[in-house]
Amino acid sequence: MKSRGLVVHDSKSPLVPYEFERRDLRPHDVGLDILFSGICHSDIHQAREEWGPSIFPMVPGHEIVGIVTSVGSEVTKFVVGERIGVGVFIDSCRTCTHCKRGLQQYCTEGMTGTYNALDRDGENALGGYSNTFVINEDYAVHVPTNLSLAGVAPLLCAGITLYSPLKHWKTHIGTRVGVMGLGGLGHMGVKFAKALGAQVTVFSHSAIKENDALAMGADSFVCTTESSILKKHSSSFDLILNTVSASLDIAPYLNLLDLDGTLVAIGLPTRPYSVPVGTLLGARRSVAGSMIGGIPEMQEMLDFCGRHAIVSDVEVISANYANVAYDRTVASDVKYRFVIDGSTF
Ligand code: NAP
Ligand code: ZN
Ligand code: ZN
Repeated sequence: MKSRGLVVHDSKSPLVPYEFERRDLRPHDVGLDILFSGICHSDIHQAREEWGPSIFPMVPGHEIVGIVTSVGSEVTKFVVGERIGVGVFIDSCRTCTHCKRGLQQYCTEGMTGTYNALDRDGENALGGYSNTFVINEDYAVHVPTNLSLAGVAPLLCAGITLYSPLKHWKTHIGTRVGVMGLGGLGHMGVKFAKALGAQVTVFSHSAIKENDALAMGADSFVCTTESSILKKHSSSFDLILNTVSASLDIAPYLNLLDLDGTLVAIGLPTRPYSVPVGTLLGARRSVAGSMIGGIPEMQEMLDFCGRHAIVSDVEVISANYANVAYDRTVASDVKYRFVIDGSTF
């Protein structure tokens, strides 16, 4: 299958147009036309090798939404013409205890990434900044028909990545949730936490985002450019989700957790956390981590979005704007996710 997209050839080069072939459909494969493809900060980290060596040529993109155009002979999950979503992984071992529990993201052999990975045949996996895709039916999800497709694309990574920890840490009516960073991930955290009945506070270093945060449902907004402001909020949160992409001192945020509170690492900066142990001991606080979500939970999240009319706030762009979009994302200047129109590749 012919595909047109964007590629990076090495960590110092920009995205440029690229033509390539996708594999022919196998019996359990689904072919799709990509309608929208989100730009996740993880795409930038990997294209620029901020997490260590990457695999090039790289076609980034793991927030994919499209329409099924063809199905393999054994496919039962999808029909031609249906809406379909693909997220951060395209395969896993299927047999380990985590895969069997539907937690493919924690596959003990390692999930197979949508890009910057070799697929299980050893081929370079090329991601979603492109106009077509081929995926095994078990690793794709159904998309509710009432949601705008541009706003759905970011749900496939940013959405599930915030939904999963909110559910795992049992967010309910009245849970006091703090969201650090109002970017692609963070703004989905606000929407989900609110829909689950939580009291939501946004911690942001961008004062200009206050009105947007409140409009998304946040109950309060704390601008963190003056760090002493955090002291006012000590011991007043059950759950803090750190979505910040840059290295931050988390010590002042740990202090915001009440007894038994948890700070969940979600953003993946290069520098390790420095954790003051006394702050943990002082109120049985925890630091944890969470990575995307498995296929059953992705479907649950999309169905939840359908029922609650939740989509991402997006700036739809043409493929030729993607390099500018990268720079604007790094500068925290996006409202609140760039999504590439698949017809412009
Ligand atoms: P994003 O849209 O760029 O948002 C990150 C936000 O962090 C920014 O909007 C900004 O929020 C804040 N921020 C950035 N630089 C900062 C700085 N120097 N100081 C303080 N705050 C800063 O990125 P994203 O796509 O949401 O991704 C966020 C992180 O999560 C990335 O590291 C990404 O790789 C990671 N990620 C993890 C998973 C997972 O499974 N755990 C999945 C996807 C992505 P304010 O302007 O509001 O301060
Ligand atoms: Zn992502
Ligand atoms: Zn596995």
